[in-house]
Parts: sequence; structure tokens; C-alpha cells
Amino acid sequence: MARLNTFPVSFKVAGRSIIIVGGDDEALAKARLAVKTSARVLIFADVFEADFSALDVTLVSRRLEARDLADAALLFVADHGLEGARALELARQAGVPANEVDVPENCDFFTPAIVDRAPISIAISSEGAAPVLARLVRARIEAMFSPRLGALAGLAGAMRDKVAELISDGTARRRYYEALVTSPAVDAALVSGQGEAEAHRLLDAHAKAGQGAGVVWLIGAGPGAEDLLTLRAQRLLQEADVIVHDQLVPPAVVEMGRRDADRISVGKAKGHHSFSQAQINTLIVRLAREGKKVARLKSGDPMVFGRAGEEIAALRKAGIDYAIVPGVTAALAAAADTATPVTLRKVSSGFVFATAHGADNTDLAHWASLARSGLTLGLYMGKSIAGQVASDLMAHGVAATVPVGIVVNAGRADKALYAGTIGALAAGEIAFADGPAIIFIGHAVAAGDWAQAEAIAPEHFRVA
Ligand code: SAH
Repeated sequence: MARLNTFPVSFKVAGRSIIIVGGDDEALAKARLAVKTSARVLIFADVFEADFSALDVTLVSRRLEARDLADAALLFVADHGLEGARALELARQAGVPANEVDVPENCDFFTPAIVDRAPISIAISSEGAAPVLARLVRARIEAMFSPRLGALAGLAGAMRDKVAELISDGTARRRYYEALVTSPAVDAALVSGQGEAEAHRLLDAHAKAGQGAGVVWLIGAGPGAEDLLTLRAQRLLQEADVIVHDQLVPPAVVEMGRRDADRISVGKAKGHHSFSQAQINTLIVRLAREGKKVARLKSGDPMVFGRAGEEIAALRKAGIDYAIVPGVTAALAAAADTATPVTLRKVSSGFVFATAHGADNTDLAHWASLARSGLTLGLYMGKSIAGQVASDLMAHGVAATVPVGIVVNAGRADKALYAGTIGALAAGEIAFADGPAIIFIGHAVAAGDWAQAEAIAPEHFRVA
């Protein structure tokens, strides 16, 4: 792993001075940074070529002396001549960290790109390697936060004593602060100068509610790519006290939760049942009864082959609040990966989510009639029995020429595609890539883009 050669810190400059040597545009750029702080900013130069008039700085038209560095916190040198070299030497003797603009070997420190929402500051540094990238990252972060982030931080700070007095429980206190910093009402109140009043109103409400009741959110994590998580899922993962997740949810998604939330893996990968469904039901009920906010994170969509029905029944019976957050289900991620319109005018008037696992003869007869009527089938949990399912469907009258498309690891970087016909799938032996798979069956499949797919058999269909 690459290691940082610099250590990001926030350097105290209040009550001290920041000194800049030089009078040109480079000096001006550093002066602009320096005046974001409350430090006195002194600029030493013979000539001031740049226009410093808009900035609250003191221009000193003489050379820098050792005594000028007595209360200096930082020195910037924009003069690359003899005066600059002298200033660097003086700084070295005085132990003041120095930075010669754009001369990394003469720098004790670098200035990161800064997102300034005082008292909150976010510094982005590339150690000088990619300033353009650092600025791009900065622009994104700027767009992410309200301009009132700083005011909000100030408000949270001002509420500290009162909060400690009214709410003794640590978790309840954290919840108050979370509500404070995410409340649209507080943000709006800050604009009209009513921030403090609104913060107190919110505090009273929280103090009355006490620790509050627990809740369980059944959250769909999508097929595995972090950016297919919904914004709501992401927000609730940040709020949860405990994250109870399935094996199929990739670690990167589980990591998106609040850092100090407890994480409990309840297994349920194929052939790896570490918790029974009954144990999971008991677990989430118990956690919610302890007053916790529980994120029950499931792959794809929680309502599609996610045993959500049993968990919801247990929560209802126990009288626990719950909410469902939808996710991108595997079949639809597979449809996106392969540009397959699962419904298609004049070809397929519907889409069937079905599981091949444990399907009996009646199920198969049903699906076969649906497939014969033109609907697209999306089969879950069927990879290991794909060939058998295909022959069973043929036995129930599905034509051998009906297209089949299979997506392993849909929605992920390591996806693998297979395409062919029912007949080929029934006849052939195919060594699929590792990972969960969706099997599409139906004429609409041929309208997708399966150019990257491995042929299930020689009669692999091609899109006209
Ligand atoms: N709730 C999930 C389904 C869980 S059942 C959802 O909505 O997607 C587990 C089955 O889902 C697997 O056997 C497989 O058929 C399918 N599956 C889950 N993730 C998948 C993925 N990334 N790619 C393909 N299929 C997947």
C-alpha cells in the first residue's frame, strides 16, 4: 500500500503571524489562503507588483529580519532570488516552517486545496503530485455541503453544555446532534438568524422522547457495486447503531455504514448458513428492543427472495417499527449489464421473478406456460441446476430455440455473460464463473447486447 509522505494536520495560527516574502502573483495567491485564517498576514517585498488592496494584509517595504519571525507561525517565500533564500535561512534558524512556492525541495510543508466552512475545514492534498485532481476533488466536496456547514458546526458547539445537561445517555445525545446537523428546519432557520431557537426546540423534543424506541430498516444493498446503493440506504447506514448483513453484501457496502456501528454478519451465503432465519428474526427484534436503530442490509432488493416476509412478520408481532428501503434487484442489474429490455413491445408483455431453487413440477408447468405466452423469465438461485431447469421447461413445451442469457455477478466489475438457447442449455455442460447468477429466458433476451457473452453452445444466437 502506498504511504503518505506528508501528515495532514491543522496548524494553530491564531494570535500569530503568517509571513510572505515577495510581491507578485504567487505571493498574492498565498496571501489569499492566509487571510482565511485569523493570523496577522505580513508581506515583505521591495515592490508590490500584484494588487493586495482587497486583502486584510500588512505590506512591509523592507527586507525580512530575524525579529520579524519572533511570533511567526508559517513563512511563504514567493521570491526565488537572494532575498527569498535569505528568508528561508532565517526561518530555519528560528524554527519556523517554510514553504517556497512551487519548489518542493525547499518546503517543510505543502498547502492543500481547502474547503473552508470555518470552523470546519477540509484539506485535500496530493503531495504536489496532481494539483488538478486535488482541485477537482475540492470542487466535488464544495458541492456536497451546505454553505452553512460552518454556522452549523458553531451552533452544535454552542449547544454542548445544554445538551449535556438535558440528555445523559450517550447514544441519545449522538442522535440529537445527528438530527441537528441534518435537519432542513435548522438549516433554514440559520438563514433567517433563528438557528439557535430551532436548535433548542429540537433539543426539547429529543429530551422529552428520551432514548427513543428502536427501529429496523430492511435495506436493499443492490447487486454489489457501491454506487448502486440508493441515497436513502446510504443515509440510514450512517444513522444505524447496528448493521446486520448477509454474506452476499460486499464488504465495501457494509463499510459505508457509520464507522462505530456494530456489524453482524448473519451468513446465508449458499452452503453457509451461519444463522438460521429464526435466529435472525430473534436477533433483529432483540436489538430493536434495546432501543437500537438496526440496518438489516440485504443484497439486491429486500422484498425479492430476501426472506423479508418472515422478518417483517416477526417485527410486526413484536410491535417494532420498521421501514423498507428498496434496492436494485439482481435481475434488473443483469438487464442493465446486457441492455436487455425484459419487457418489449410485441415481444414480451411481462417479466417474471422466479426462483429455480426448490421449484416443483407445478411451478415449472406454470413458468413454461408463461414463457410460451411470451413473458421473460428471470430465474434466481438456479445456476447449479440450470441444465435441469432448461430440460424441464422443454418437457413442458417451451421451444428449444427460445433464447437464454445468463449473467454471473451482475452489476459488478467481474461479471460474466453466457448466451444461447434453452436447447443448448439443456444439452450442454457449462463451467460458469464463480458467483451468483441470473438466468433470463425468453425472446426479449435476443434484443439485448450479448456480444461479450460466452456461447452456451455452438448454436449461440446472434442479435440480428
Ligand atoms: N434479494 C436479492 C436476491 C437474493 S437471493 C436481490 O434482489 O437481488 C440470491 C440470488 O440472487 C442468487 O442465487 C442469484 O440468483 C441472485 N443474485 C444476487 N446477487 C446477484 C448478482 N450480483 N448477480 C447475479 N445474481 C445475483
